[in-house]
Amino acid sequence: MPLVSPIEMLRAAREGRYAVGAFNAVDYMTIEAVVHEAQARRAPVIVQTSSGVIKRFGVRALAAMARDIAAETTVPVALHLDHGTDAAVIRQAIACGYPSVMIDASKHPFDENVRRTAEIVQAAHAAGVAVEGEVGVVAGVEDDIVIKADKAIYTTPEEAVEFQRRTGVDFLAAAIGTAHGFYKVAPRLDIDTLVALRENTDFPLVIHGGTGLPEDVVRRLVASGGSKFNLSTQIKQTYIDAMDEYIQAHRQEYDILKVLKHAYDRLREMIGGYMALLGSEGKA
Ligand SMILES: [Zn+2]
Repeated sequence: MPLVSPIEMLRAAREGRYAVGAFNAVDYMTIEAVVHEAQARRAPVIVQTSSGVIKRFGVRALAAMARDIAAETTVPVALHLDHGTDAAVIRQAIACGYPSVMIDASKHPFDENVRRTAEIVQAAHAAGVAVEGEVGVVAGVEDDIVIKADKAIYTTPEEAVEFQRRTGVDFLAAAIGTAHGFYKVAPRLDIDTLVALRENTDFPLVIHGGTGLPEDVVRRLVASGGSKFNLSTQIKQTYIDAMDEYIQAHRQEYDILKVLKHAYDRLREMIGGYMALLGSEGKA
């Protein structure tokens, strides 16, 4: 299938109380692992790319890779730009065929965040592209965005409603205590706020910082209203650990394709586990 907009799959997830996995790909093989596992599990899926990967490959190449791999599937695959902070890059992604982008202007004061986000929404919607915004601040490290835990700001339902009304975003990152990167201490999650956010809005909510949360916590986040579940650090960890594992065990063998195949298999296992946990398995 051609790449699709994530709006329909996220609305269905919100309605059905499950979440669509949004996996941060870092190269051609990780896109394959995500898409092939989605096909095997009949799961709608979102492949997303963050700024570091975009700096490495460029949006044109990434869009072409995703389009090429998704063309072989029958399940809906969306491509999304994660944490866009540079309007020029976001516009380039739109021009290159990304069906969905995130504008993260959350470091700015509310009105400035609204202004920057609304500007992107206007350009994106004119091209039929979906937009994720962020109000409140998610802590942790996401490529070149670094937010200390004490600088995290939880999203309030009033803000979320006003932000969506003034910007027209299609779905919204909910800052409710999850963080990017690895958790050094257990996060203080505000599940009540997530429930209130869901009750007071009619658009899908996004959980950032999915890596490292215990399974029961993931289930609660999904049951409480998270419809898009982002996983980035876990991809990198599984990839690197799998390569290390293979190389350690086959130190005299110089077959890079075998190393990559091992990482691909491990990535698929991990991704499939999340599709089952999030409830998106069998929904496509
Ligand atoms: Zn994020």
